[in-house]
Amino acid sequence: MENRNGCLVCGKEFTYLKSPKHATCVYCGDVHNTDKVCVDGHYVCDRCHRLPAEGIIEKYCTTTTGIDPIAIARTLMKNPAVKMHGPEHHFLVPAVLIAAYYNVQGKPDVKGQKIGQAQQRAEMVNGDSCGLLGDCGAAVGTGIFISLVTGATPLSREEWKLSNLITAKSLEQIALRGGPRCCKRNTFLAIRSAADFTRDHLGIVMPIATPITCEFPLQNNECLTKDCPFYPC
Ligand SMILES: [Zn+2]
Ligand SMILES: [Zn+2]
Repeated sequence: MENRNGCLVCGKEFTYLKSPKHATCVYCGDVHNTDKVCVDGHYVCDRCHRLPAEGIIEKYCTTTTGIDPIAIARTLMKNPAVKMHGPEHHFLVPAVLIAAYYNVQGKPDVKGQKIGQAQQRAEMVNGDSCGLLGDCGAAVGTGIFISLVTGATPLSREEWKLSNLITAKSLEQIALRGGPRCCKRNTFLAIRSAADFTRDHLGIVMPIATPITCEFPLQNNECLTKDCPFYPC
């Protein structure tokens, strides 16, 4: 079920403190006084509480210190603003990859500008591109990622090659699983493929904890269940 009542981060219930304390917002990193955290200690500030999906993705990817792009994606996917399916995943994919890519290199200051550019480019990729154009937006998101971190343009040579090649590789992984579309499955496949590609072509390792297990099968009417590589046993 979609998380509509509990903590935006983990879905668990809230606990009210006897006296207010300083807490750090999970998404934006700002510190506020609060008397309400979830049972696992998560705090989300009022401003982040009101943000739409793109805002939460932009804030969290800019502030997180995480280096596992799947872990960053899973935290975002649990926020109810990020729907089960939808074009916000076209931005989520490059944003989490940019976050992990620069965090692992100790260059977090670069993230803000790149993530902003990724958001603008991801808006060019409409929903349903997978079935209508034969070009899943999660795969396009990996191309946006490599284009931004290598500075590719339509006139580049090597950077142009890498940008198109990473999209091709991740799109193949997505295509070979067959439909119907699942923005969670395709996001996991795209990120995993992009991490392998980045290691092989740029020498930057973004470690991904395995196995990758999906927490959303009950929210997806078309879940492939045991035919999905991420279906929980
Ligand atoms: Zn929580
Ligand atoms: Zn916040």
